[in-house]
Amino acid sequence: MGTPIDPNDALGMNAPIERRDLLNSTLVAAGGVLLQSLAPLQLLAKEDWTGFGGVGDYATSNGNTYEVMTAGHKIRDHAFDGALPEIIDTHEEFDCIVAGGGISGLAAALFLERSGRRALGKQPLTCLVLDNHPIFGGEAKRNEFQVDGQRLAAHQGSAACFPPLNGTFLAQFYDSIGIDWKQFQYQKWTGPSPEFAIQTAPYPVGGPTAGFFFGAKFGHPEGLWLTDPWGKRLEGAPIAENIKRELLSMREADRKPFSAHRFQPKQHGDAASRHLDSITLENHLVETYGLSVETVRTFLSPIMGGGSGLGADVLSAYCEYAPDVLLPWDYKQGAQMFPGGNAGIARHMLKQLIPHAISGGNSMQEICRGRVQFSSLDRSGQATHVRLNSTVVSVKHEGTPEAARTVEVLYTRGGKLYRVRAKSVIMAGGSWTTKHVVPDLPATCREAYAQFHRAPCLMANVAVRNWRFLYKLGLTECQWFEGIGNYLTMRKMPTFGTDPATISPDSPVVLNLKILFSNPGLTLEEQTSRGRMDLYSTPFRSYERQIREQFHSFFSRSGFNAGRDIAGIILNRWGHAYLSPKPGFFFGLDGKPGPGEIIRQHPYGRIAFANSDLAGIMDHRMSILEAQRAVGQIMGKLN
Ligand SMILES: Cc1cc2nc3c(=O)[nH]c(=O)nc-3n(C[C@H](O)[C@H](O)[C@H](O)COP(=O)(O)OP(=O)(O)OC[C@H]3O[C@@H](n4cnc5c(N)ncnc54)[C@H](O)[C@@H]3O)c2cc1C
Repeated sequence: MGTPIDPNDALGMNAPIERRDLLNSTLVAAGGVLLQSLAPLQLLAKEDWTGFGGVGDYATSNGNTYEVMTAGHKIRDHAFDGALPEIIDTHEEFDCIVAGGGISGLAAALFLERSGRRALGKQPLTCLVLDNHPIFGGEAKRNEFQVDGQRLAAHQGSAACFPPLNGTFLAQFYDSIGIDWKQFQYQKWTGPSPEFAIQTAPYPVGGPTAGFFFGAKFGHPEGLWLTDPWGKRLEGAPIAENIKRELLSMREADRKPFSAHRFQPKQHGDAASRHLDSITLENHLVETYGLSVETVRTFLSPIMGGGSGLGADVLSAYCEYAPDVLLPWDYKQGAQMFPGGNAGIARHMLKQLIPHAISGGNSMQEICRGRVQFSSLDRSGQATHVRLNSTVVSVKHEGTPEAARTVEVLYTRGGKLYRVRAKSVIMAGGSWTTKHVVPDLPATCREAYAQFHRAPCLMANVAVRNWRFLYKLGLTECQWFEGIGNYLTMRKMPTFGTDPATISPDSPVVLNLKILFSNPGLTLEEQTSRGRMDLYSTPFRSYERQIREQFHSFFSRSGFNAGRDIAGIILNRWGHAYLSPKPGFFFGLDGKPGPGEIIRQHPYGRIAFANSDLAGIMDHRMSILEAQRAVGQIMGKLN
């Protein structure tokens, strides 16, 4: 008998990759078993949470950091209510404090700065942006890998951007921050292998290089790939004929990506959109396409409504349509993407606000590749400050909301509690913290915020030394219906942000694996809390093992070797990734407006509210538009 094969070796668990080996592998091997006995709220230790964070400016900020998660839980558990000892007063007073340094918070700071500049005879308005992560951007951050001498980037969360229609406010805004859509020129194909069309964005489109994987759940423990499933009309898929017919009739009815949809309402607020918001996405799919509930739950949850993170059975049907109704764009140009996703947009805004914040000049190449100058973000004398690693824990008017001249903001940083004041505050951090941080929020807003639910998401970026194993299968995107995750995609990069101007199956790339936590059949609240429990209690090495096992079962027969081919894995854990709208979220129930509209219409004293979640859709364009509205609401309070 030969030496038994160590399963860890086959998966490359012990291979020298960029991962930060903090755990003893024997302990880790037991992780999956231990996991099952974890009490629901037992959290991981920091070293089990974080894993490898990549290289470069974002290396210590992959997803929600451990510190962000624990500080958030202290707010939720009222640790900052009542009399607080040892508050350090910074004696600073700003025109505005923005809580949250994502795209919405940065946009708010920028609108404020521009409004101040326009008000003749005024000093520039001063603004402090407080964000709880080690780097600005919120969900719009990037991961960077160094693989065999090449720098690779990938998005941590917010990914694609959409060329706006000419003459719109968004077109002017992008232009004003230096985004030139013509510069999105992507890597060209190279080498002798016949060319594959590669997407520019990480969302599956189901073209000729798409694949469905069927495993044990479908009677194929050895694994079965169906490439070009739609082109082949699902022929060869191990699923019942009636389910095939259902899926095909739906696909053929109108599910072409990025084109007008047959059931798309014409206007936000018309009868069609209101009807869609009154039912679940699952009911809509059943009624409209004649799908069975089983088909929806097996094949479409959570891919449809995927921008909301949960099963179609609990989401408003309108969430599938709202982005295109609210934000029409120039479909012909196609979705575009910076190497690190919408981190690119956050960087452009920061460069406008604080010109020295990113080294180099103002070209798209320089803003993408320059290093963040952290010491420039919060220097005395500048109008806008961005203070990182700072969690806002309390926001209160100093006096009654009607009469107060200032708002007191408390934040924690490095284990200490600080006080700072402002004439106004914009809460841009999102519903998940805002509702806890403004303690005397009026009942109208409190009740509205109680209707906001945010689902978790895990974005795993897997850097591979080449993708020939995918190429051999004829794939650039894959979807599956069992095991960890939902789909993975690869994409080509815009050349202003990446060195190799070409791509071939032998190029190193980052595969983006989307892991959503839908549990159709449970309530929305149960789905979000179960998902978070999974996300918060699964150690890095346990996720790593599951991902390696999944890749091994998918690709080992086309030459993939986990130990040899995986160069690095970064996990981005987002505890509150997606606003998940229940039916009624958009247009309200019982004659009342929807909760987002209530929050928009009710700035509270000197405090206004932003963040994309108010719109019911997670889209950076809404982050910008909500910021613009919120700044308009506080401008009258700055005298
Ligand atoms: C996985 C994923 C994929 C996505 N893909 C796309 C896409 O392809 N295209 C697109 O347009 N959008 C996408 N989005 C939506 C994304 O939410 C928006 O694009 C945008 O990045 C949201 O910006 P924001 O500023 O509104 O919120 P956030 O990005 O959430 O920013 C809020 C910031 O405030 C911080 N914060 C919260 N509370 C506090 C506090 N108390 N104190 C201090 N800081 C606080 C948060 O931690 C965060 O850093 C995606 C989102 C996710 C999660």
